[in-house]
Amino acid sequence: MNRIIWSVSGALAVSVALSACGGGGSSGSGGGGGGSGGGGGGTDTVELVDGDFKFSSTTGWTYQNPDAGEDAKRLEEGCFDSDRYFESDNFLVYSNLTTHSDEDYRTAASKAQDAMDRVLPQFGMDWDAFRAMKRVVSYSDIDQFAIEASQLGLSTAELATYFPNIEDGTETQQQAFIYNTLINEEDPAAVLSVINQFIADNPDITEPTPIYDKIQICASGNDRIGRSSSSGIKISPDFANDVYRHEAIHLIIDQVSQYPAFWAKEGQTHTQLGEGAPPVVEDPASISENIINANEAEPEILNKFKYAYLELLTVTGNDLDKIMDWYRKSSNIKAEWLVPDGTGEPISEEEIKEGVKEAFEGAIGVSYQEFFSNL
Ligand SMILES: [Zn+2]
Repeated sequence: MNRIIWSVSGALAVSVALSACGGGGSSGSGGGGGGSGGGGGGTDTVELVDGDFKFSSTTGWTYQNPDAGEDAKRLEEGCFDSDRYFESDNFLVYSNLTTHSDEDYRTAASKAQDAMDRVLPQFGMDWDAFRAMKRVVSYSDIDQFAIEASQLGLSTAELATYFPNIEDGTETQQQAFIYNTLINEEDPAAVLSVINQFIADNPDITEPTPIYDKIQICASGNDRIGRSSSSGIKISPDFANDVYRHEAIHLIIDQVSQYPAFWAKEGQTHTQLGEGAPPVVEDPASISENIINANEAEPEILNKFKYAYLELLTVTGNDLDKIMDWYRKSSNIKAEWLVPDGTGEPISEEEIKEGVKEAFEGAIGVSYQEFFSNL
């Protein structure tokens, strides 16, 4: 099924080759820097959205970013300490910067609304479809749940009432099975539902904190780059519309995977921004060296990313579902990648890379190696 709609950008000047790049929340510093990313073509106007200012201390809706790593949390510009926030139909805008005016909060929500309105159709979605796929339980909460659920000493038969097809095995193997089952579930509401049922029957388990339905924005200063995660984006109100669209595309991908290959995520994002096909890439094989660990999307590397992404589209027959499926399965973990006691250090970059390659073959139907040797 072809759900790709190529460029929607007709009127938008493509002035930001180096727009800010959000990592999945824990890694990647992105290229370009927010200052340059946001400074350029900010001339497009957007329709201002309506909304109200509220206080977290009254509503209880404090800023969340559960999938940000600890480092990112420290750098989150104080949004975790924010009290007053702006709420529109689809966004919650937090900031702890006194330099932001009320108008800045509204501008951030308005630019993000415009960005999502433009980007969602590229994924074959409207807002309802997005809400239906928006993650309710964070990756980190799924991780924690899988650890605790596997350590309760339940029999395989008992676990199978929640996770059919689970097999006898070590706690670690069952932890991996539970984690993968929840990660591979395409309906986020079903993830919460099975976890809630499990906790109702086994109350000693830590309850996850559901992610709000609305997209959260941490309004940063201009000196920060844009970032995306499963719960929202961090971005300056001053940044150009292109940067908002960039992070909006990332945000959608972040709903299905914690570990999409960096080249594919950036290649897809820049392609959907309407930048068209890249010039000829002299050495396509060198793309494979940049699969995941390359955090800098410099123009030369970016061309390779786009080149490979366009090839990927061709290989799949323009089937974005297959690509999203690859992203999703890239988050799967294996028992042998977990520390034996299940206390869970993050899996290593090498392990992630292995997972990405395996998932590729499963979802795309060609081995990762073969794909790159055919470039
Ligand atoms: Zn990016």
